[in-house]
Amino acid sequence: MDIKKVKGVGDALAQKFAKLKIHTVQDLVDNVPRRYDDYSEVICVSQIRPGPVTIKVTLSAVKSRYSRKGLHITEATASDDSGSVKLVWFNQPYRANALKPEEEYFVSGEFASSYKFFAITNPACELVSSFPVNTARLVPIYRLTKGLGHAQVRRVVKNALEYYNPEETLPEWLLNQQKLIPKGQALLEMHFPSSNQALAEAKRRLGFEEVFELTLASELNRQEFKDKHALEIPFKQKLIKDFVSNLPFELTDDQRRVAWEVFQDMEEGTPMNRLVEGDVGSGKTVVAVLAALGAISSGFQVAFMAPTELLANQHATSIYKLLESINYHQDILLLTGSMNASQKQNALQKIKSGDAKLVIGTHAVFQEKVKFNKLGLLIVDEQHRFGVEQRKKLQSKAKQMPHVLNMTATPIPRSLALTLYGEMDVSIISKLPKGRKQVKTALEIPENRQKLYKKISSEIDAGRQVFVVCPQIEEGDNARLSAVKTHEQLTKTWLKGYEVGLLHGQMKSENKDKIMQQFLEKKLDVLVSTTVIEVGVDVPNASVMIIEGADKFGLAQLHQLRGRVGRGSDEAYCYLVLSDNDEPTRRLKVLEHESNGFRLAEYDLELRGPGAIYGTMQHGELDLRVAKLTDVELIKSARLSAQEFARRGENLLKYSELNRRVSTLRTINNLN
Ligand code: ADP
Ligand code: MG
Repeated sequence: MDIKKVKGVGDALAQKFAKLKIHTVQDLVDNVPRRYDDYSEVICVSQIRPGPVTIKVTLSAVKSRYSRKGLHITEATASDDSGSVKLVWFNQPYRANALKPEEEYFVSGEFASSYKFFAITNPACELVSSFPVNTARLVPIYRLTKGLGHAQVRRVVKNALEYYNPEETLPEWLLNQQKLIPKGQALLEMHFPSSNQALAEAKRRLGFEEVFELTLASELNRQEFKDKHALEIPFKQKLIKDFVSNLPFELTDDQRRVAWEVFQDMEEGTPMNRLVEGDVGSGKTVVAVLAALGAISSGFQVAFMAPTELLANQHATSIYKLLESINYHQDILLLTGSMNASQKQNALQKIKSGDAKLVIGTHAVFQEKVKFNKLGLLIVDEQHRFGVEQRKKLQSKAKQMPHVLNMTATPIPRSLALTLYGEMDVSIISKLPKGRKQVKTALEIPENRQKLYKKISSEIDAGRQVFVVCPQIEEGDNARLSAVKTHEQLTKTWLKGYEVGLLHGQMKSENKDKIMQQFLEKKLDVLVSTTVIEVGVDVPNASVMIIEGADKFGLAQLHQLRGRVGRGSDEAYCYLVLSDNDEPTRRLKVLEHESNGFRLAEYDLELRGPGAIYGTMQHGELDLRVAKLTDVELIKSARLSAQEFARRGENLLKYSELNRRVSTLRTINNLN
């Protein structure tokens, strides 16, 4: 239902909400507060101390005036039995008329010294007889956009909730079994909690529901997938053995195990849908090549997708080398957006005829005109960067479902992976190949930055390249955290005379590739960027990384970032610069000695909860709002409940709202 149906929402307001991706009443209600300000304790005027306060008062002496500087000022005296206090509003000319002297009000705001006298400045003020949303409660704080204020959003949400009566989504037996409160009550308490206890209950209820729906959607997709036919790809023992013995290195135990799991999946007549999770540098590519070799040697085509052109190029080169040893390299074809028309035409022809066996490319492979002859396996590198629509398109290119192998360097602890990647089987490569050097990691306080960059310049003189990573693109309250500002600072002063490039997510993808290419070709000494460099590009000569505002990131994410350096023969260094000069947190110190991404992720999970982990993933459409805040135990029990629901063979059509939500999730599931 359109948000304009809500009382008080016209075109102008609807447009502002649209900026927050809130279009319907449902969106509005699903948009849970980011946090709450606690104004729940109502005190007597005589008890007021500086700080946030709430009082229950009548108002008198309401008057407006202009200050000498032209500021509009409204003042009033607020009184209860114990005494009175001054209220002041700046530049709110509508205030004076809105206040009625004979009525009783809740007033919430900051009591502080202002213009030489103590007063509550710009307080919220609501009739005691109303349902207060800005005062005398845990007050919700929402995401805002320009021209949209807190009070306005709260009023609209309140109006929406009054009018919108949500259908129950969970079956009654489940509510009873899990002791969960009903949906309507949970939503009301989530937005306007009556107490901290009630808020916790609401979060539990809604977080459970989210995970339940997500898991149920995965379960149903999984069941459906099981009924689909895939091409059986036999395991060719001799060929694989030959290939492995010709590799320039010994496979690790983890690589062998995961490859074996993949081979077993592909032998089945049901389509594989497997995710290989492994740290940067853990050697996922060779596992994928093993799978690809299995498929092409049996006469199937393989599509190998990379998120960027650069990465596709790198893969093509390294896979060519790997397959050369057993003479399978002629079957490789690279398909990227930057090929010219006749190259493309030629490539498309080869894909269609089946001459091209292993097609490595970017999203160019998803285009309508790309027709495979006999697609047996789809490999998706850095799977979280791909949209589900794209994958669906590719699957529809095959007459039968191809097997799908996804790879990601994002370490998700198993307990969460089961929920988030519910539809996929997960294989984990947890150990790096032997002999890998650890990236030497050290924490730095901002005070030492100039020294640090000075040290860096001598590293550059010695022929090294440097990554500088910032948590945001533009300037916030702290200029150092902005990639744009840091780039400016380095080029103008600290690294003047060196070639410093800038890379961030708001740049066009051709430009991003161009900058990355320049860095790769050593035309740039330093690359300042946001986290866009996470994706697995290999720059062997870059051996130093500086991460600004390191405390803004999760451990797993920092670990992923530093995985960009240390890919060559040089000793690699990572400097984590804190956002202030305080003592470094214990959390970050762990990075100085721990080098296993999964252990770091587990640590994050324990310390900061699931939110820290979700934060490292790009989940696109699937936006877990409440579950981020909930604990792992709850997530587990919701998952088990969904499995029970599916096992019971419950008819989903009996629960219309649940059915609607789960159906939507089924189309965007898997976070891919
Ligand atoms: P990622 O898992 O990040 O995709 P890659 O597959 O790119 O890692 O592998 C990183 C590097 O490690 C490559 O140069 C690859 O040749 C090498 N490598 C892979 N497996 C092994 C191994 N078992 N022993 C030594 N080096 C390996
Ligand atoms: Mg990789």
